[in-house]
Amino acid sequence: MTFLLLRRATQLGLILLYVSAFSWNQQVLVGNLSASSLFDKVILADPFAVLQMLLAGIELDERTLIGATIILAFYALIAGRSFCSWVCPVNMLTDLAAWIKRRVPMLNKGGRQTVHINRDFRFWVLGLSLILSAVFGMAAFEAVSPVSLMHRGLVYGFGVMGIIVLGAIFLFDLLIQRNGFCGHICPLGAFYTLTTRINLVRIRYDRDSCSDCMDCKVVCPERQVLDMIGHQSAVVTKSACTNCGRCIDVCPDSSLGFVLRTKPADFRRYKKEPNLTHESNLRRNHEAA
Ligand code: SF4
Ligand code: SF4
Repeated sequence: MTFLLLRRATQLGLILLYVSAFSWNQQVLVGNLSASSLFDKVILADPFAVLQMLLAGIELDERTLIGATIILAFYALIAGRSFCSWVCPVNMLTDLAAWIKRRVPMLNKGGRQTVHINRDFRFWVLGLSLILSAVFGMAAFEAVSPVSLMHRGLVYGFGVMGIIVLGAIFLFDLLIQRNGFCGHICPLGAFYTLTTRINLVRIRYDRDSCSDCMDCKVVCPERQVLDMIGHQSAVVTKSACTNCGRCIDVCPDSSLGFVLRTKPADFRRYKKEPNLTHESNLRRNHEAA
């Protein structure tokens, strides 16, 4: 539970800073997840929101552009897609849906999904958000973003629209598609997946100590990134990994852990080889989905 607790503390701690700015006029972090002022000195801006605004023809000041570059560089070079698991408040909702889904067999339907959405669909939504921003002269995803809705709800209180949209996402993840919104639809998650290919902080897997329980693949929200499990020691190179650390939390053999990629081999993508001896474990993993 270590990383789960750390993530919740980070997500809720950030919300608390925004609440304290609103309620008690503290100046530590003021604004929202699209653009915030840190200690009233540095602007931190969401690079995807800034990209939409630029395409919409909205003029942005230098501080906002620098703020977006700082955030983009932090995730692209160091933390990877960790915005999704350590910052975004929607993650608390979708994690809850995934947790319930794993525990209620009726919702699993033996691993069968009611509908199947390709994980690449999110990249089409990302492209569409950018096109619509340019066409309508407004940041298209920001206008409907569940991330902003949930953030606003937690800081200022939920409105009817927030409850409807977030409720729909929760039910979609729970009843229709596992990890449905974050893993298949959200263009912000897709943006960070595309821009974090070379970041240093990654998950490393050790084949020798692994007892093939496959618990990591059961809890991973992007299990396709763990294709080396049961096969060979490797670093998770696929950028859809959110660095959530759930795989580390549940591994009984301590075969997974965070590492800093330093060697060229750590950047090389694992190529899957057929390994029939692990078929039963993989089938179990599929059924648990
Ligand atoms: S995919 Fe989108 S909604 Fe989900 S955690 Fe990432 S930014 Fe938030
Ligand atoms: S591989 Fe581990 S850290 Fe990455 S998304 Fe899956 S559970 Fe999270």
